[in-house]
Amino acid sequence: MEKIVKLSLKSENDCFLIREVNRHIAKAKNCIIITGAGISCSAGIPDFISSDGLYNMIKSQYPGVFRSGKDLFDVQLLRTHDTIKRFNLFMGILKELIVNAKPTATHSFIKKLADMKKLKRVYIQNIDNLEELVGFDVNWQFERVKNCKVQVVQLHGTLSKLRCNACTNICLFTPQYCEIFKEGGAPNCPECVERGRRPHFIGQLKPTVILYGDTHPKGLEISQIAKRDQDKADCLLIMGTSLRIPGVKDLIKGFARAVHGHDSCIILVNVTDVANKG
Ligand SMILES: [Zn+2]
Repeated sequence: MEKIVKLSLKSENDCFLIREVNRHIAKAKNCIIITGAGISCSAGIPDFISSDGLYNMIKSQYPGVFRSGKDLFDVQLLRTHDTIKRFNLFMGILKELIVNAKPTATHSFIKKLADMKKLKRVYIQNIDNLEELVGFDVNWQFERVKNCKVQVVQLHGTLSKLRCNACTNICLFTPQYCEIFKEGGAPNCPECVERGRRPHFIGQLKPTVILYGDTHPKGLEISQIAKRDQDKADCLLIMGTSLRIPGVKDLIKGFARAVHGHDSCIILVNVTDVANKG
């Protein structure tokens, strides 16, 4: 029988619900976790949809620069010189918040499930890479879909790395590079410089994040992994996301269908209301 336990942090029935959640997780062996911006808010990284979110913070600091929350992550930003500058500025601001952030209790909880051999995989919308700081291997090259041991799928990429737009060399996104982004620029690729390329052919480093309107370069592999995970999933735990991103909604629907019919449960933990259309 499928059991849906909806846990609201504002509910008076919290104790009862938390016991219910514990009971389901205790018997699960292959938890699937899907996370969103909400799990990193207590680390000082605001989400960008809620009223005190990232967009409102940026809007008050940089009036007139961004028109909407979606603007911050839209691939359209990369079309003109002026909007690329805004995008770089935003990436610099966000990276600075991330550099100073520590993993939250939720990150530790997810790692604990992994250590207890209860986690099948965590699908992460967050780009802050805090999961690596609690000890997860995030360097999945997607070359192995069958028996893939890496337990983290970064659905929207990561702001821990930069990729050259000319030679595709990958570098760490260091605090020094952060300063360049915060001025609206993008650093030159050290690999291109070292190869002695002529200035015109030296690439720029771009954050390895997936924007709205962008396709994930490994989207096919991710859907293959998700399909395999669906066969095993015995508990679906969704945390800190308001289910507004269409691709993620589809992923959740797939897992929800898979646990339906087993003696399994779907647990949704979110402070704000979730999208109910579709
Ligand atoms: Zn390069």
